[in-house]
Amino acid sequence: MKIIGKTDAGDDRMRWVVLLLAVAVILPTVCLLWFMSQAVKNERLVVRQKLVTLYQDKLSETVRETDGRWSENCRFLDTGTPTTHPYEKLISAVDKNCFDGMIIYDSTGKRIYPLLATGQDSITEPSKIFSEAWEMEFIQKDYLLAARLYELNAQRGAELIQIAARIGEKLYGQKTEFSPDYIQLAALIGKSRCMAKLEMTDEAVKTCKQVAFSSLEETADSPLLVLIGDARLLLMNFIQSNKKYNDLYKETFNKLLTMVFVSNQAGFSLPTDHNLFLAQKALEIGNKTSFLRNAFSAKLEHIHKLITAEANSIRYSEYYPTIDAIPSRQTDRLQLLQAGKETLYGLYHKIKGGSLLVLLTKNSIASALVNYKENFKDSDVVYKIIDDSGRFVAGIEESSSKPFVDTLVGKHFPGWKVELYFKGWDVFEKAERKQTAVYTWTGVLVIVFILAAGGLAGQAVNKQIKINKLKNDFIATVSHELKTPLASMRVLVDTLLEGNYKDQQQVREYLELTSRENQRLSRLIDNFLTFSRMERNKQAFEMIESSPLAIARAAAEAVKTKFDNEQGRCKFDINISENLPPVKADRDAMVTVLVNLLDNAYKYSYENKKIELKVFSKDGKVCFQVSDNGTGMSYRATKKIFNRFYQVDRRLSRRAEGCGLGLSIAKFIVDAHKGSIFVESKPGEGSTFTVCLNSV
Ligand code: ADP
Repeated sequence: MKIIGKTDAGDDRMRWVVLLLAVAVILPTVCLLWFMSQAVKNERLVVRQKLVTLYQDKLSETVRETDGRWSENCRFLDTGTPTTHPYEKLISAVDKNCFDGMIIYDSTGKRIYPLLATGQDSITEPSKIFSEAWEMEFIQKDYLLAARLYELNAQRGAELIQIAARIGEKLYGQKTEFSPDYIQLAALIGKSRCMAKLEMTDEAVKTCKQVAFSSLEETADSPLLVLIGDARLLLMNFIQSNKKYNDLYKETFNKLLTMVFVSNQAGFSLPTDHNLFLAQKALEIGNKTSFLRNAFSAKLEHIHKLITAEANSIRYSEYYPTIDAIPSRQTDRLQLLQAGKETLYGLYHKIKGGSLLVLLTKNSIASALVNYKENFKDSDVVYKIIDDSGRFVAGIEESSSKPFVDTLVGKHFPGWKVELYFKGWDVFEKAERKQTAVYTWTGVLVIVFILAAGGLAGQAVNKQIKINKLKNDFIATVSHELKTPLASMRVLVDTLLEGNYKDQQQVREYLELTSRENQRLSRLIDNFLTFSRMERNKQAFEMIESSPLAIARAAAEAVKTKFDNEQGRCKFDINISENLPPVKADRDAMVTVLVNLLDNAYKYSYENKKIELKVFSKDGKVCFQVSDNGTGMSYRATKKIFNRFYQVDRRLSRRAEGCGLGLSIAKFIVDAHKGSIFVESKPGEGSTFTVCLNSV
């Protein structure tokens, strides 16, 4: 029985190798995954820190820029002398586009703008001065008589002045002085009104124009300016739908526009509330009359802004009549101001000879905070500015997440905060995902590389294990193959020595058997030696011109006795063509090749063996062909039989002896002769091996 096969020790070793390989692949992979997760975590922190620092710097820069811009705005409020008329200050502030009104106080803290006519300058109450004419016009509705009376009043100027003074004293407890001009102009206005009511338009226009176009405009005081302004409005009323007066209408409108928000050469201007009234009227008329709107569009737009600012100023002056009413008098600091339910921001500013309370709407402040808009326009973040009471001022109002950076807006905005938020989904996550993708792909590549390297190492180890196993098998086979002939020879010789034989015939048989075993042993050892030389590259061939016939005969001779001993159950045919050309070959080596092939044909055939050795020439080559009617092989097996130690049937119980070296030796020798060896075989039908050598 053959002693080839796996051992428990071999299995264990295999298991260990597989285990080691698994550890060699899994351990670095796990470590790599751990490093990757750590790296991603660190990257997240680094990205976060980087972005926070970046935006903090940007924010600090914006705060600086905004502060600079506001300091400049505040400095701008200083322009003009202390005597500069309030309107000049208001206009320049409104034109700066970030102020929406202003209250001006003198050095004692008393308000000097806005000043209202209502309740203060009641001297302009014509009903009291022209009581007779007034009664005739409004109660008796005798316009002709009323007109006449107004005319008389205009002439009785001096006398009426005294009456008016008395009325003033009686009604308001103060002495008031009327200029003759005031009496005259007021009377003319009354007269023109009555003429208009009598539908004497031309007359009315003529009379009213005397007041509206009065040369007194540049020297007039406030009450007189009110009269002139009213006359202009009245005149436009008289002629508004009369095409004949179109030019006059336009001229009067222009005069009306030029008298609001100004002071005349004498330094007087309309009382603030009357100024606002006339400006609003002018805007109303201008906007609804297309030819006026076209001609005065820029002026009307400007007036519109001034009206808003003046309306704010008047409304807030009621709540902050003196500087004492202002909650905080820290200069140039924004504060929230309340006027009833309304709120605006205010900025207290000191000027030479007084102080200002500048009013600002949320929109104006937002436009003044334009640096934020510009600096964060194309970034991944949005900003939100809130005042000291937490009210939203600029940026985005809604913010679902928490700000990642916040800071104070600047010295002009006490307690105000600016907060930065990331747009859409978190930018950190975006950066992190990008980095994670890079790490993941690197990791995947490294793992693939480790697996490939592990696979290759596994293959190499596997191959080495196989070789080791083959070597072990070989040693076992060799020992077995050597032991079998030796044992049978010992038994035969011992039998003869002990004299256990019947006759001389039996002695001869035993000796012949011993000789056969001896030959087998020699062939076996020859093969081992050739293999060993082959392995060590030590096989030297003596290539000489040899006769194929001689080679074939020598091989046949070597196996003949063995084949003959089968007593007719082995038919051995030798067919050698005539006139074969010689070949260049190592004769003994080629004999070994053929003996191996013939030996295999014998070994792998059943009873009634039919073996043939043919030698013929073909295409300039000499071919040696050994065929049998034996077991044959599958196509797959024919591909492997020339490999060292390969045996188709590796079962321990297989019949044929051998160690899988014969064909590999044959191939080695044929290759050394630059020849070819191939096989054709079918399982169960037999095999044909052909060796071809180049003829000389
Ligand atoms: P071995 O010593 O096992 O005969 P060889 O190298 O001579 O080794 O042959 C390799 C294997 O090829 C054999 O084990 C056998 O299975 C197969 N083989 C070789 N010659 C024949 C043949 N003529 N018929 C069938 N099988 C053969």
